[in-house]
Amino acid sequence: MPSFQTSPGTRDILPPQAGRWRALNAVFAGVVESAGFECVIPPMFEDLGVFLRLGDATDVVTKEMYDFEDKGGRRVALRPEHTAGICRSFAQHRPTTPWKVWYSGSNFRYEKAQAGRYRQFDQVGIEVLGSTDALLDVEVISLGWRFFQELGMSSVLLMVNSLGDLADRERYIDALRAYFVTHSESLSAESRATLERNPLRVLDSKRPQDKSVIAGAPTINDFLSDEAREHFSLVCRGLDQLSIPYAVNTGLVRGLDYYQRTVFEFVSTALDSAQTAVGGGGRYDGLVEDLGGPATPGVGFAMGVDRTLLACDAEGVFLAGDAPLDAFIIDVTDGFAALRIADRLRAAGFRVDRAFDGRSMKAQMKVADRSGAQVAIIIGSDEAAAHSCTLRDLGTSEQRLVLEADLVENLSALVGSRTPRRTTS
Ligand code: ATP
Ligand code: MG
Repeated sequence: MPSFQTSPGTRDILPPQAGRWRALNAVFAGVVESAGFECVIPPMFEDLGVFLRLGDATDVVTKEMYDFEDKGGRRVALRPEHTAGICRSFAQHRPTTPWKVWYSGSNFRYEKAQAGRYRQFDQVGIEVLGSTDALLDVEVISLGWRFFQELGMSSVLLMVNSLGDLADRERYIDALRAYFVTHSESLSAESRATLERNPLRVLDSKRPQDKSVIAGAPTINDFLSDEAREHFSLVCRGLDQLSIPYAVNTGLVRGLDYYQRTVFEFVSTALDSAQTAVGGGGRYDGLVEDLGGPATPGVGFAMGVDRTLLACDAEGVFLAGDAPLDAFIIDVTDGFAALRIADRLRAAGFRVDRAFDGRSMKAQMKVADRSGAQVAIIIGSDEAAAHSCTLRDLGTSEQRLVLEADLVENLSALVGSRTPRRTTS
């Protein structure tokens, strides 16, 4: 028989790690919903053209796309990120602005798999469409900052920069190209190739050989228009008012061709290697228009869930997994008491599991201990005859006999009260 393993760059997220993923999503939703963001769920694949709009100088488009022809002859691609799909969605449905939405889900990029870099990876993020207000940039950044704080992370650094407006960037790119061309013999072969496509992206090179050339390159600062400079200064003032620490990094450029003005990145000092960015984003313009909608500015970020959790591991924070069981039922009679009681307690809002296969008291007790449940509910023949059960606190080993009819009350006294589930009868 053939045996199968996960494909390169993909992983099974098993329990209890999967519970941690859900918990992270819940933290994220809590943070952004507190600011009026609403959840959107765009499709996982779209017309390839949607993602080509991200720009032909980006790795995502040139090297990493999972695109294929479907059985109907359509050229489609698995989404490499969410921004393009959300802008397509905006163009298609024309919601009122500002449209503040958040998302959570997998992306697909054909990358060289390594620690913190996968072919299927998850992001949580937000986008706001329809406002150019610099204080909106601050709100977006501050929600990202708050998210990392709520996870308990203290290793996260915020870097911000302005890429100016289109004309500023064009003048800057010309100056940058001229500079790199005169120093091209000192650049790595990869950066020389990048230079041909997009001189900005050379600044993004993490190759040691390129470091000193990059250090001497002209910076965008000297090319900003008055409007772009004022916008950036408002962003910085806003961050100051919220006491969010940040560093202006004039070398910070980001993948998307559409970025304008504010760009930012969150890096974790707890991670080593080249994979230290836990998230990033910025302000963009032209994307909605290019996808068939009205000219609409946008700003947003995407946080890498996989890398964020790696950073949490390195810091020893946010270790929570699934919520533990309240009770584990041990029934050494015919099992019907366990069936009945489990159903009743679950309806009353408790988290309850039980053993199957008619195993011995000792074997069931072992499973109960391993389950992490706070309380064991034991039904032997004596208890069954008296319509009762023994409640055993698995922490203190104290036990008491209670009537089945009084179970909810007694369990609440041990593990706290719960909200009953809705029943329709
Ligand atoms: P990098 O420079 O690391 O390739 P990127 O610029 O391609 O990052 P973005 O498109 O900005 O990344 O995505 C935002 C975040 O998503 C990144 O900061 C990172 O945490 C995460 N991310 C991006 N690509 C991957 C991947 N292949 N595997 C895991 N996480 C990823
Ligand atoms: Mg990348």
